[in-house]
Amino acid sequence: MNNMYIVANWKMNGDQIINRDLISTIEKNSVINDSSHMIICPSMPYLQQIDTQKPPYMILGAQNISQYDNGAYTGEVSGKMLADLKTKYVIIGHSERRELYNEDNNVIRGKFSKAIENNIKPILCVGETIEHRNSGETFDYIHSQIDAVLSSNKLENLKELIIAYEPIWAIGTGQTATPESAEEVHSYIRNTLLNTDSNLAENTPILYGGSVNSDNAEKLFKMENINGALIGGASLNGEEFSKIYNIAGELTNE
Ligand code: PEP
Repeated sequence: MNNMYIVANWKMNGDQIINRDLISTIEKNSVINDSSHMIICPSMPYLQQIDTQKPPYMILGAQNISQYDNGAYTGEVSGKMLADLKTKYVIIGHSERRELYNEDNNVIRGKFSKAIENNIKPILCVGETIEHRNSGETFDYIHSQIDAVLSSNKLENLKELIIAYEPIWAIGTGQTATPESAEEVHSYIRNTLLNTDSNLAENTPILYGGSVNSDNAEKLFKMENINGALIGGASLNGEEFSKIYNIAGELTNE
């Protein structure tokens, strides 16, 4: 797979001025590459702003989606609304949502379905806690997170799936997984997909997330089963984010 995906997760940060400046800094510093896809996921209220101000090669993503269609769900945003705002991707199952908002695999299955129904491509986040890792449960845990979606969807619903492996102990901590240990899990994920379908295994991008920056990106991206990154902290610095995007772009040119 020669395509790379670089996803900015701005989380609950930004305002109209900061966002506009960030988009313009990224635009100024990024070398566009057709095989390296840049997805920007701002906070919900700014989806329309980013859609209007971004250049066409930046793709709009959301950080969350409701598992319901419409109705009395105060504060929620539906897939139909996201699609109406031209959202092309959505992050599902981020560990902050799983931990802080008690989103279990059941909820995540529902959100996944709503993304597919509204033609929004799901970026499914999986990852183990430090306790899972220390007790040797990493693979089993990740398997259960992926299987929750694989087992409840027809193959045709999985065509646009992106998986982001984000070890929870590496998110926002400055503690990145080594390229080798990340690759070990990515390769496990690829094999898990292979048990469902060989095309699915071949075509599903598997991104790494967890304290990615311009110093560690190249070594991570050179790993066989790492097809890009989901980036939190470093995506709030336009120059740094562009550097990571450019590293991915150079590797797809090799
Ligand atoms: C994330 O929130 O998905 C993430 C990977 O954050 P950070 O890059 O800050 O570790």
